[in-house]
Amino acid sequence: MLYGSEVMQSIFSITRKKLEDYFIDLGDKKFRATQIYEWIYRKGVRNFDEMSNISKKNIDRLKQDFCFNNLKIIKKQEDELVKKYLFELSDGNKIESVLMEHDYGLSLCISSQIGCNMGCAFCESGRLKKVRDLKTDEMLLQVMEVEKDLGERISHVVIMGIGEPFDNYDNFMDFIRIITDPYSLALGQRHITVSTSGIVPKIKEFADEETGVNLAISLHAPNNEIRSKIMKINNAYKIEEIMDAVKYYLEKTNRRVTFEYIMLKNVNDSKECAYELSKLLKGINCYVNLIPYNETENIEFKRSKTSQIGEFYDILKKNNINVTIRKEFGSKVSAACGQLRAEVEKSIKEDKGV
Ligand code: SAH
Ligand code: SF4
Repeated sequence: MLYGSEVMQSIFSITRKKLEDYFIDLGDKKFRATQIYEWIYRKGVRNFDEMSNISKKNIDRLKQDFCFNNLKIIKKQEDELVKKYLFELSDGNKIESVLMEHDYGLSLCISSQIGCNMGCAFCESGRLKKVRDLKTDEMLLQVMEVEKDLGERISHVVIMGIGEPFDNYDNFMDFIRIITDPYSLALGQRHITVSTSGIVPKIKEFADEETGVNLAISLHAPNNEIRSKIMKINNAYKIEEIMDAVKYYLEKTNRRVTFEYIMLKNVNDSKECAYELSKLLKGINCYVNLIPYNETENIEFKRSKTSQIGEFYDILKKNNINVTIRKEFGSKVSAACGQLRAEVEKSIKEDKGV
């Protein structure tokens, strides 16, 4: 199916650098790109005709080459801590973003793909499989639309919603370039965190970009045996390769890495696992985020008991590993990635009697 942004590029997908090259190719000045950015990101203009400092000829050209894509909010769920947005894209696909209120500001967790091909056994997004990558503007517009809905600025963005961002690397990197651009949303690089299931070559490429964006790695197991059972990607990139890539990242960036570790009952939550994890991470500039599993009705994994999570935490602490237990957000509003989309899809199927 063809849809707007497939035939024409969305103006929200183009980095200022690429837009500068575009104007140079047209024989115009490169600062036109900054002027366009000011119109669309500062003044909120959604129509090229209103751009009074751009020549008529170039406005006609822009109209041929670019469109103004948008996302439609089709459902909101909220409780006192989180607000979850379900968006419809211009081709009818659905994605979600989760807004969390922290003491340091508002943080939005955005999606990077429609579904995910990594197939982690515990994850709704993986169960739903990848339909397609999100375009750069579809990532950016999640932030812009939520800001518009709230009438407030979002201070932190995490790319931890549906999808594997490093499997959509180029669009993801353009998204980072645009959202941090001082003439666009001007979000601080250190206020952004990207999470990957461990695509080793992309971790290295990302290290080479030398951005200030935080990196989180979904480890979820202290050894290959357990990891391969719950994460298919471990058949492609083993833990040793991930650790090598992490060391490369640390050398290049001198920044701390986060390891995410979902606590799954009787799978990866034993004391032995905690000791093994401590040994694996010894001496690495990192911290571990222990995540209480958000159970879903479609997948049979169970969350570890709170006391078990506490013991696991204590062992890591005693072994001098920086560790936190993730504050629980939104189990009431199905906050884990892919859950709202799964629910909505189920209700659509039920409506249709499928
Ligand atoms: N694909 C990337 C980013 C999206 S997933 C990645 O895997 O890192 C973001 C995080 O949510 C990952 O750490 C993932 O393992 C975790 N997650 C997935 N399903 C979850 C669930 N039901 N409960 C808690 N965390 C979950
Ligand atoms: Fe994909 Fe991340 Fe879910 Fe794994 S945890 S299936 S990589 S979204």
